Amino acid sequence: MGRRGIKEYRAPEALALIAADRAHEPLVCPSCGTRTIQRSPRRRVLRAGELFTAERISLTCAGCSRHAFYITRGMEPPRDATMDPRSL
Ligand SMILES: [Zn+2]
Repeated sequence: MGRRGIKEYRAPEALALIAADRAHEPLVCPSCGTRTIQRSPRRRVLRAGELFTAERISLTCAGCSRHAFYITRGMEPPRDATMDPRSL
């Protein structure tokens, strides 16, 4: 029963995988050692306008189907110009 349920990493495993992704290191499943981690969205070069966008990154192991996700924090957010009152 429950064979099709989504398997989640244990917290230390998820943290290790997320840390590797954040460090742009090759992703290896911390549970089964498979190197085939499906990342969604795929890694890409950020364009200037995307630097500050928080994204939900999903990491799924093709070997054992375990799954982890995290939300990226943007890089240093710029001052929101619309919040700056114009000086008179
Ligand atoms: Zn795995």
